[in-house]
Amino acid sequence: MSCPDADLLIAGGGLAAQRCCETLRRLGFDGRIVVLCEEPSTPYDRPPLSKSVLIDEREPEGLSFRPASWYEEHDVELLLGVAAAELDLAERTIVLSERASAAGPGGRRDAGRMRFKELLIATGSRPRRLQGIPVGGAVHELRTHEDALLLRAALRERDGRLAILGAGLIGMEVAAAARALGREVTLIEAAETPLARVLPPALGSWIAYLHRLHGVDVRLATAVERVSLQEGSARLELSDASVLDAAGVLVAVGTSPATEWLASAGLGPGAIYTDAGGRTELPGVYAAGDAACFPDPFLKLPLPSQHWEAAVRQGVAVARSIVGLPPAPPAPSMFWSDQHGHRIQFVGHATPDCEIELDGDPATGESFAAWIARAGRPQGALLVDRPQSLPAARARIAGAEEPSVSSGEKSSDNNNHSKRGALWPAYR
Ligand code: FAD
Repeated sequence: MSCPDADLLIAGGGLAAQRCCETLRRLGFDGRIVVLCEEPSTPYDRPPLSKSVLIDEREPEGLSFRPASWYEEHDVELLLGVAAAELDLAERTIVLSERASAAGPGGRRDAGRMRFKELLIATGSRPRRLQGIPVGGAVHELRTHEDALLLRAALRERDGRLAILGAGLIGMEVAAAARALGREVTLIEAAETPLARVLPPALGSWIAYLHRLHGVDVRLATAVERVSLQEGSARLELSDASVLDAAGVLVAVGTSPATEWLASAGLGPGAIYTDAGGRTELPGVYAAGDAACFPDPFLKLPLPSQHWEAAVRQGVAVARSIVGLPPAPPAPSMFWSDQHGHRIQFVGHATPDCEIELDGDPATGESFAAWIARAGRPQGALLVDRPQSLPAARARIAGAEEPSVSSGEKSSDNNNHSKRGALWPAYR
C-alpha cells in the first residue's frame, strides 16, 4: 500500500488546525500540509452551534472558516471524512480510517497510512457521556454541525420541556436559546453553582440568577440518578427524589480530549502536555487546542483550556515553532459566552478565596464588571456586557498595572463595593 509523505500532517481539521495552517503560509512555510478531517465538512467555527444556529439566525453550512478555494490557493490538502486511527511512532506514520457509509453511522474502513515529518495533534474534544443515558432519539449532545441540526429540529418540532444535564457553558447557552424559542427548560447541575470549576461561587450564583430571571428552572446540587426513555420522551429521577418528564434531554456535562487514537503510541488518554510552543515530548510532534494542555503563563502550571481563544493562540504558537520562531507574548486566558442577550467574558482565573470588587450592580440586569483579586493582586475579571473593558482586564492581570483591586475603572454610578458572599437575591 502506498504511503505518501506530508511535511506537516495535522490530525483534526478544527480551529487550532486552521490557525496553524494560515500562520504557516503567512510565515512562508512552503512544505506539504495535509489535514485529516474526521467530519465531512471543511473546518468550521463551533461557538454559533449553541447560539445563533439554534435560534435560526444562522445556518450551520455558513460557518466554514474559509471557502473551499482558500485551501487550493494556499496548498493545504484537506482529507474530508478521514480520521487518524492510530499513530505509529517508529514509522512516523498515521493509520487512516474513513467513514464507511455501508457500515452505518460510526462505521469505519481502513484508508491506508500517511507518513509525516512533523505532526500536529489537533483533534479537539468530545462531549462526555453519562452511563445509562445513551445519546440518540430524545437524548442529545452538542459538538458538531450534525448535533446542532438534530437539536434544532427537536427544539422546533417537539413540544414539551428540555432537560439539560450540566450547567457548563454549552448547557447554559442552549438553555438560553431554548427559552428564546419559547421552550420550558430545566437545567440540572450537580455542583452548588454553575461553572464551579472556573467561577467563584458568588459569580456562579449570579449566572444561576440570570437564568432564573429568564424562566429557566435551575436545579443546583442535584444529580440525575436515572433516565427512562419512552417513545420520544424521557423521565428523569433526580437526587432530591423528584421526577421530571421531558420531551428532550441534552447531556452537557463537559468534554474529554479526543486523544484515544494515540493510545498505542503511549500518549493520552487526556490532554497532551506541551511547552509554550506546542511541542510534546516527542520530537516533531506538536499539540494544540482542546486536545492539548499548554502551560498557563501566569499560573505557571499546565492547564487544559478548551476555549476558542486558546485554540487560536496555540495553533499560531505551533506554526511559529515549526518555522523556528518563539511563541507570541503570553496573554491571560479568556472565554466568552452569550446567554439571554448578555455577552459574558471571563479573563484570567479565580480561586475560591478571592476578593471580588464590583463595578456596576449585577442585580439590575445592566452591564457590570467583577474584578477578581487575591491578596490584592489582580487574578481575573468577569465582564458582563463590558467588551470595552477587556483590554484593561487583560493588562491588569498580566501585571501591566499596579497589582491592586482598587486601581480599576470606577463606575459612573459610584457603586463599587467589595463582597465575598452573594451579590444579588439568592434563590435556591
Ligand atoms: P475542534 O474545533 O473541535 O476541531 C477538532 C476537529 O478534529 C473536529 O472537527 C473533530 O471532528 C476532528 N477529529 C476528532 N478526532 C479526530 C481524528 N481521530 N482524526 C481526524 N479528525 C478528528 N469557546 C469559547 O471561548 N466561547 C464560546 O462561546 C464557545 N462556544 C462553543 C459552543 C459549542 C457548541 C462548542 C462545541 C464549543 C464552543 N467553544 C467556545 C469552544 C471552542 O469552539 C473550542 O475550544 C475550539 O473549537 C477548539 O478547537 P480545536 O481545533 O481544538 O477543536
